[in-house]
Amino acid sequence: MDNRISNIYNTIIVIIMLSDEDIKIIDEIYKEGYLIAQYGVYVKKKYKERVFKIPVDAGFGCPNKTTGGCIFCPDMGRPISVRYCDVQLSLKDQIEKQIEIQKNKGIKKFYVYFYPGTNTYAPIEKLKEIWDFSLSYKEVIGLSIGTRPDCLEEEKLDILGEYVKKGYDIWIDLGVQTMHQKTLKILNRGHNVSDTITAIQNCHEKGIKVCGHIILGLPNETWDDMMETAKILSSLKIDAVKIYPLVVIKGTKLEEMYWRGEYRTFDEKQYISLVCDFLEHLSPHVLIQRLSKDKVPEEIKISPEWYLGRLRIMNKVYEELKRRGSRQGSRYLSSFKESI
Ligand code: SF4
Repeated sequence: MDNRISNIYNTIIVIIMLSDEDIKIIDEIYKEGYLIAQYGVYVKKKYKERVFKIPVDAGFGCPNKTTGGCIFCPDMGRPISVRYCDVQLSLKDQIEKQIEIQKNKGIKKFYVYFYPGTNTYAPIEKLKEIWDFSLSYKEVIGLSIGTRPDCLEEEKLDILGEYVKKGYDIWIDLGVQTMHQKTLKILNRGHNVSDTITAIQNCHEKGIKVCGHIILGLPNETWDDMMETAKILSSLKIDAVKIYPLVVIKGTKLEEMYWRGEYRTFDEKQYISLVCDFLEHLSPHVLIQRLSKDKVPEEIKISPEWYLGRLRIMNKVYEELKRRGSRQGSRYLSSFKESI
């Protein structure tokens, strides 16, 4: 970690978001034999029933687009989300269609998950209108909002904080990717590590939970870099993570690097091993929402060749953790303290 970030880190106040009840639920999950704090199990225990995230495309752009965008991003994620969000439909129809489909499967509670693009990149009035509308459905218990660390201004968080006060469960799905400045630069992310730290801290101050999206296997990152990301996020009390392999997708700058021989993806065995290492270095109280990026259509995926299926990867990670006799948090010690 560079000195500048180290200094920022040492001066911030870490706010614990998950309640005592949440921590109790996570501890129960481990007592039942789970090796990681699986988000799906946690939600089922918390709400005593299944809760479905409705992925929607509300048509947001991205501020990073003007500077070329992230090297791995195909058109703000839309080619990946197209199977899941019916962009031909209005927001209303996207929500209502999914509620109807899922209700037939017995699901009665929902989050609305704003997925492609930077979903806080709009005037505040527009954001409030969209959020109010989504929460107007009696079945909707909260929002998950995918965005960048540098696009969470105070006035936006104030509105989201008001929903929390009304009892809604509000999550920011934060594009963290890495806690290393040198990598953010290679990725052309257009924000700093300090933006990520500030975003997590500001969300927590408003009672908003944060799920950090992390990529393993980024260009030039060492094993130590990746484990350090796990430790820093744990110390920041991030509430959940989604862990992904870096996937080379058609039409991206990463694809150009790949064909020039400047970047190679991990094979499946390497990725499984890295995920296990990362989980071991992560706090046991960080919820795990995903371990793979299985939404990429095969026709636009250049590399890796192995099948990214979420359940398959989860099973392989479990097999490896069992083989090691370890679990999430087993190597989480702190050079960074649990609380400051
Ligand atoms: S911030 Fe997100 S949407 Fe924007 S270019 Fe990067 S990955 Fe794509």
